Amino acid sequence: MKMKKHIYITRKIPEVGLKLLKEKGITFDIGTSKKPPTEKDIIKALKRKKYDGVISFLTDPLNKKVFDSCPTSKIFANFSVGFNNVDIEEAKKRGIEISNTPGSSDTAVAEHTVALMMALTTRITEGDRFVRSGKYKGWDPDLLIGTDMKGKTIGLIGAGHIGTEVAKILKYGFNSNLIYSDIVPNIELEKIIGTNTRKETEDVIKEADIISLHVPLLPSTKHLINKKILSMMKKDAFIVNTSRGGVIDEKALVRALKNKTIKGAAIDVYEFEPKLTKGLTKLSNIILTPHIASSRQSARNLMSEIAAKNIISFFETGKAINNVIK
Ligand code: NAD
Repeated sequence: MKMKKHIYITRKIPEVGLKLLKEKGITFDIGTSKKPPTEKDIIKALKRKKYDGVISFLTDPLNKKVFDSCPTSKIFANFSVGFNNVDIEEAKKRGIEISNTPGSSDTAVAEHTVALMMALTTRITEGDRFVRSGKYKGWDPDLLIGTDMKGKTIGLIGAGHIGTEVAKILKYGFNSNLIYSDIVPNIELEKIIGTNTRKETEDVIKEADIISLHVPLLPSTKHLINKKILSMMKKDAFIVNTSRGGVIDEKALVRALKNKTIKGAAIDVYEFEPKLTKGLTKLSNIILTPHIASSRQSARNLMSEIAAKNIISFFETGKAINNVIK
């Protein structure tokens, strides 16, 4: 049966999701801005019609004012795994359903994470800059000495969808020694990496040669990696963050890298993105990528499909498949 529903999609999404919506008779308007819309832009767009639902992006602030601008929409389906752009308490109060796209980018983010680890240990990005700047004058046994990945202990903070995928690449590809911290045990993962591998976060930080962050940004994980925690890392350890910027106190990270109390870092996400904390780009012992860990067509298509299915499920059953409000 065709549904008489009309939704707003804040930015262009791949055709796969649009096709699913059309098949169900759901019509939509799509925001045309190439740049992430601001809170003002979203409110202006939502006030135009009585939308029944919204597909939103991780850059869209979904707060009291935005919810007020579209009281008819009882579902906001995020086109992303993370949902820290949403005021969850406010949505909960109003009975608004919020959904995400779990599992849509596990392969992409895990591969990007391991690529960042390898870029740190092999010093590929430094080497590239060195050659381009004309400094390369011939082979030198002491030039840009790297670190072996083999035999190293890798510590995962958060072992859900993405953490597990990272662990598999490292276990099967490098036979790494893996440890993890998570608020819930991951028994399936332990079958691969061994029992007794789940530890307290502080123990993972102290023991790991490379730390990789895979927790959602929640009030409980904001600045999980702070000055004190950074000071517990081995002096020759690396840290990689492809989760959310706010999980690390970026000022403290800049200080630790500047003072060389840790060896290096690689980050895809930023505490105040797209703004960068002062000093970050001046450091040679950090690799920076522009929030592209999930940037694959395969992942974008899945996000589109899952977001559309959440909208359809909500209209059909009153529940989104991937509702994040417990
Ligand atoms: P997930 O929900 O499957 O896994 C998160 C894990 O973190 C869970 O197992 C949870 O129990 C654990 N956790 C929560 N609080 C914790 C704490 N205080 N200490 C230790 N563990 C804790 O999520 P996922 O699919 O693996 O994604 C993880 C995060 O990666 C997302 O929330 C998102 O913010 C980020 N992400 C980033 C990109 C990117 O492009 N860089 C793409 C996708 C996802």
